[in-house]
Amino acid sequence: MRLTVLGGCGAWPEAGQACSGYLVEHDGFRLLVDLGYAAFPRLLQQIGADQVDAVFISHGHPDHCADLNPLLRARALRDDPPPPLPVYALPGALDAVLALDRPGMLDDAYVLHEFTAGSAFDIGPFRAETRLLPHWVPNAGVRLTAGGRVLAYTGDTGPSPDVVALARDADLLLAEATHVDEVPEDSRRYLSSARQVGRQATEAGVGKLILTHLWPGTDPAAARAAAGDGYRGEIVVAAPDLSLELS
Ligand SMILES: [Zn+2]
Repeated sequence: MRLTVLGGCGAWPEAGQACSGYLVEHDGFRLLVDLGYAAFPRLLQQIGADQVDAVFISHGHPDHCADLNPLLRARALRDDPPPPLPVYALPGALDAVLALDRPGMLDDAYVLHEFTAGSAFDIGPFRAETRLLPHWVPNAGVRLTAGGRVLAYTGDTGPSPDVVALARDADLLLAEATHVDEVPEDSRRYLSSARQVGRQATEAGVGKLILTHLWPGTDPAAARAAAGDGYRGEIVVAAPDLSLELS
């Protein structure tokens, strides 16, 4: 299984950088996990819009799903449109982004598979096990298994035992770490810090940790150091075009 980071900015994109978007490949199958602001042009630096096989969206915040619109436009408006794109999301999560264009315009470009958080299903060669994690809106963490490797992704979440359960013994935990040390009071139930994520990575026994969704302006070294107080394994901060093979 190969993971390529398209973007890892929390909240809004920065110059030359995109919000959450991850290309996960196995056995020639290309799955996009989240596609936030500005992630689509980053995707195009890797593959064509018609080469995406499926999309999984963790939750309906635009920094995780806004660039679904240009992806669908790029597929629907070409002379030889590819088959409808399977899109997996929680019920209602994509209502807003799918309503951006005139009614019907993108209907043939996708097939929406709405799932219940907690359910498990196959996406191509991937087994996807989902879990509801605490956020302002329903957010599905996902545990992807393929070829004997496991990637766990939190989406956006406050601290929860369910994060540890989602990531148990995963080869890689890709975790939202919006803040470095302290999460402000008004966000404490719904977002995480790098420090918390490091502890959770140890508790879950993961092989490697990638911190993502850092608040714009955050020093990546500070985030890595905070996570490193609780986790002794390899820690990487999500950066554009970071690509690694799970092993
Ligand atoms: Zn969010």
